[in-house]
Parts: sequence; structure tokens; C-alpha cells
Amino acid sequence: MPFVVAIDGPSGTGKGTVTSYLAKKLNLLYIDTGATYRCVTLKLLKEKVNLEDTEKIKEILKNINIELTKDKVFLDGEDVSLEIRKDPVNSNVSQVSHILEVRQSMVELQRKMSDGKNVILEGRDIGTNVFPNADVKIYLDASVDERVKRRQKQNIEKGIESTEEEVRKNIEFRDNNDKNAEIAPLRQAEDAIYVDTSSLSIKQVEKKLYKIIKSKKRDAKWIERGYIQTKETIHKKIIRNIIKYFLASLYHIFYRIKKTGLENLESDEGFIICANHINYLDAAAIVLLNKKKIRFVAKSDLYRFPIISFLGHTFDVIPIKRGKNDLTSIKMCLKALKNNEILGIFPEGTRKGLEKNVKIKNGAAFIADKAKVKIVPVGIGGSFKPFSKVYINYGKPIDIKSFESDDPNWIDEASNYVMEQIIMLTNKKD
Ligand code: C5P
Repeated sequence: MPFVVAIDGPSGTGKGTVTSYLAKKLNLLYIDTGATYRCVTLKLLKEKVNLEDTEKIKEILKNINIELTKDKVFLDGEDVSLEIRKDPVNSNVSQVSHILEVRQSMVELQRKMSDGKNVILEGRDIGTNVFPNADVKIYLDASVDERVKRRQKQNIEKGIESTEEEVRKNIEFRDNNDKNAEIAPLRQAEDAIYVDTSSLSIKQVEKKLYKIIKSKKRDAKWIERGYIQTKETIHKKIIRNIIKYFLASLYHIFYRIKKTGLENLESDEGFIICANHINYLDAAAIVLLNKKKIRFVAKSDLYRFPIISFLGHTFDVIPIKRGKNDLTSIKMCLKALKNNEILGIFPEGTRKGLEKNVKIKNGAAFIADKAKVKIVPVGIGGSFKPFSKVYINYGKPIDIKSFESDDPNWIDEASNYVMEQIIMLTNKKD
């Protein structure tokens, strides 16, 4: 799996210098997405294209040839590395980058350049738009004063003439344009790591980001391994049973567990168990306190901890990338059901989802429909405080097919029904 790093932030935060350093140090392909917008701007200026003339712009985009090498930028075969960093490109690039057709074409080009490679991209919308599933997202920021100082120093080094006043005006103008753009405005992705570089030297920023990416790379390796199901051997089975026996004993010592509705688990065919999720102990309680093997679906991030990775492999937990369309995980679920295995899924998608008022996820109903299997609702009641009572109530299997209708939202309705049954079962205390 390719490894993608997204570095976003406004101009003058040191993105370029830091990204190019990290690319070398971590052996990643460096893609300066700003340079692609700068190339289009230069071409439109050279050809004196009216920026309202969409047809002409489309034609230019069809024939433009942009190439980025380690330290040079080529537009239609010509080295424009310096030219794209000066006026008039500087004063027009923001406006050009907000033209819908330009954006679409450049995003496509940036994805193509990255395809199948380990990359680090710097820009404004990488983590939010170009690669919303990037492995690492960093948002670099700095005060305007600091950014002006840095850009001016950079210009002097590159032999580009400019006054501090011009640089400030340009940065403020571009900030304003980038942050208020109608399409793909500059903003921090929800899962991006925010780094304020105002009081840091470039070396310090490089060191900080290197550490972040290195540790994410290590995590990604572990997470990736989570998707490789280990073979079911006698050895694995014995280890699983020993762990199961040991941990189940602890549950019995610390909690007074009461299970009801076990007859609802008797089917020899595959099915899905859907439970409410109070804390991590509930999934384990279902798995450990059942004779049958139940394979839970859990967020892939958990696999980054070696001990959990070991347990995950021993119990054949299926990883899933949360909030992403994780096809590999869905395929693993369908395969397991086809082999008549039992899956465990939390429709809340997170712990205490109901309390947090999250929208009920329809993944379980979707998979049940695709695999043509039933869903057994499970209500977990009581509390996992030591020596308290815990109720695990299994309900009657639900046939998802009975909800099927012309209404495109029928899967949502089925999911809500499953959740209603779960809630009812959490209150059952006899
Ligand atoms: O990063 P750089 O300053 O070279 O980018 C030039 C301009 O290109 C930015 O001011 C911004 O308007 C635009 N840009 C963009 N999206 C990106 C990268 C740059 O809109 N991903």
C-alpha cells in the first residue's frame, strides 16, 4: 500500500523547505502542488487568456504538460522554476487556482503523479480534498509577521527582487483568497496534526515532522499487517483457547455476568451480532464468554499496538478504517460470513455513540444484506464497575431483507430498527 503524507497550510510557513527535506530523508516522492497551479497561471498569462473564458481554459488544460522533478519545474518542456515564483504569476495564481476547471484538472494531475507511490505532497487542500485518506496529515501555520520575514529571506536567496511591503501584501491577499475560496478552501482537516512554526527554526520543524511521520509510518505498517489474516492452525487455536479461558475467568471474578437469549445464537450459518458499545470490555465479554468463535470488526488504528495486534490476529479481529470506504475490510467481512462465521459489529461506530448522539452506521445492515445473513441484536446493560452486574441479552435474529423497499433509505431504516432492538435489550434485567 502506498504511503501518503499531506502537508497543508498558508504561504510562508516553511512548507516547501520542510517538505523537500522530509522527502529526501524519508525517501518519498515530493509533489509541490502549488507549482502545478503556478504553471497553469504562467501559461494562461503567456497566452493572454481571459480568466472568464472557460472554453479556452479547458482547451489549455487539455494540452498542458507539467513535470516536477526533484528541484525543477517544467512547463511544456521548458524550465520555469524561477519564473513561476515571480510576478505576474505571484499576483494571479490565487485567482487562477479558484477556477473550477483548473482545480479539477490539477487535482487529477496530482493524484496521477502520486499513483501507487510513496509520496509527500504540500499544498492547501491535500488532506481535505486531494487525499482525504492520507496516512499522515499535517497543517503548518505561522503568524503573518513571521511568514513575511521568511518569504523575504527566501526571495533574497533565490535572487528574486521584492520589498517587505510587497511580500506582506501578497501573503495577506493570498491568505484571504485561499481561506475564503468557494471550492476547496484552505482549512485544517479534522484529523490533521496542527503545528505552529512561528517560534521554531526550520531545523526544529523538520525534526518535529520527521518524528511524527516516522511514527505514523511505523503505525501504518502494523495497521497494514492487521489486514493479513493468519492461518487457523492448531497452535493458534490452543493459544486462543488459553487466552479465552484465562480472561473469561477474570470476567467471572470481577463481574456478575448474566446472559439471556443464547438460543438466538444457535444457527450454523453465518450471522452478525450487533451490540451497544459502552467500553472496550463489552466486545471482549461477547467474544470471551461465548463457546462459538465471534470475529469482531474493530477500528484498524488499534492494530498499531503490538499486543493488540497479537490478540487481534489470534481472535481474527477484522480491522476497519473508520470514516473511510474500507473495501478490503468489507470483503473480509463478506468472506467470513460466506464461511458461516459470526461477525460482531457495533452500529454506533464508536464507544458511547448513543450518548454522543452519533448517526447510527449502516455498515452492519449493508453487509447483512450483501451476504444474505441475519442480524442478532445484543443489549449490554449494567456496568463494568468491578463486582457489578453485567447483562448480555441476545435478541431474536432480524431479517434485513424484510425492510427492503424502493425507498433508497431503507438500509438506514433497517439499521435504526436494529439499534432500537439493542436499546430495548439493554434494559432487560431478568
Ligand atoms: O504553495 P504556493 O504558494 O506555491 O501556491 C501558490 C498558490 O496556489 C496558492 O496561493 C494557492 O492559491 C494555490 N494552491 C491551491 N491549492 C494547492 C496548492 C496551491 O489553491 N493545493
